[in-house]
Amino acid sequence: LSDKLDKALHVLKGHGSITEVNVAETLKEVRRALLDADVNFKTAKEFTSTVKEKALGQNVLTTLQPGQLMVKLVKDELTALMGGETAEMDLSGAPGIILMSGLQGSGKTTFSGKLANYLKTKKSKKPLLVACDIYRPAAINQLHVVGDQVGVEVYSEPDNKNPVSIAQNAIAHAKQNGHNIVIIDTAGRLAVDEEMMAEIAEVHAAIKPNETLFVVDAMTGQDAVNTAKAFNERLDFEGVVLTKLDGDTRGGAAISIKSVVDKPIKFIGTGEKMDAIDVFHPARMADRILGMGDVVSLVERAQEQFDEEEARKLQKKIAKNQFGFDDFLNQIQQVKKMGSMKDLVGMIPGAGKALKGVEVDDDAFKGIEAIIHSMTVQERTEPSIINGSRKKRIAKGSGTSVQEVNQLLKQFNQMSKMMKMMQGGGGRKMMQMMNK
Ligand code: GDP
Ligand code: MG
Repeated sequence: LSDKLDKALHVLKGHGSITEVNVAETLKEVRRALLDADVNFKTAKEFTSTVKEKALGQNVLTTLQPGQLMVKLVKDELTALMGGETAEMDLSGAPGIILMSGLQGSGKTTFSGKLANYLKTKKSKKPLLVACDIYRPAAINQLHVVGDQVGVEVYSEPDNKNPVSIAQNAIAHAKQNGHNIVIIDTAGRLAVDEEMMAEIAEVHAAIKPNETLFVVDAMTGQDAVNTAKAFNERLDFEGVVLTKLDGDTRGGAAISIKSVVDKPIKFIGTGEKMDAIDVFHPARMADRILGMGDVVSLVERAQEQFDEEEARKLQKKIAKNQFGFDDFLNQIQQVKKMGSMKDLVGMIPGAGKALKGVEVDDDAFKGIEAIIHSMTVQERTEPSIINGSRKKRIAKGSGTSVQEVNQLLKQFNQMSKMMKMMQGGGGRKMMQMMNK
């Protein structure tokens, strides 16, 4: 999407003034780009005509930088189309109840775990996960695995084939045990069918959740929109969760779903790991779709993961010239905590384009870690003693080459230098550098 939009907006940037004709032409490109991203036809058409009206209304033609104003209009309109503001969750009640719905494979079970983790760590809640998938024993186990990963209790009744009673029993259990949030994971089917809709509607009617979330796989494009429509006709859900928005997934689904069912998107899933969850921000998504990258999210994540205490210790070491490979290893682990490399790269403005075709894998650090692990304690604290024969030994021990060891030593020296330069700044300053 962003490539085509880039091209379309570039046309405008090149012009000192814009005529009605080339506003129309550019918007035709914008529309085509939206269609390519699986935005449905009606939405795309309405979108471009709104932007056109605004562009002409605001006298784009007479402003100094018409291109920039157009970019802003397109961005603002995309943001509005996706709901404008971030939609809040209703977590009230004792307990507050959240019900998951969606097709099989959309990511309900995974998201249930992510949400439990999010509410526990970010909102200081005590969630209970409930397994209401009565068809596949494996599904119950999957939720238990997920619950263990995030340290949240999972309620299940493997022999009970009535999802309504499981849900009700779970809520009673939550009340008795001081859980203030209940997250109910349900069964899905491969396609929308009557039985599934009746089942989820029955659970919904019986437990009256605060929030019913419709979980949908963003990679399925136009199908995601059709599924959302079908669910919306039968089930009064409060919000949408768009999963699998990692990698190159087209963001078009976010635009279409919101405009077709008129329900806010509340969260996005950006990976298989339990921390790959983000609150949905329409403006950031618009930036991302427009190829500006999700810088704000990236910076937020970095700040979250950066331990201030560690930072202070590190600063002292750097000041005393004691920064060694163990600290380097520590830094790598900090970066890894921020999420998968692919996610992170996707958030850097322009990176998508620059790195097109380049494989960004999470194993990028593995070689580095192996090399450091093959160093002796002395080598780690005093890298300057690493001579030729030591390099050979380290390469052999780590299954790498002397060349790779050399490369790491060079990177390490650069990093030490850089760290010295930004003494006193901590993580935030590092992010500023990265952004530059
Ligand atoms: P359910 O049938 O709706 O419960 O779906 P699951 O939670 O079992 O997820 C189906 C598959 O999608 C699993 O392999 C998950 O690991 C994967 N998955 C779920 N969410 C995401 C996501 O945000 N990104 C990626 N890449 N995979 C995901
Ligand atoms: Mg499941």
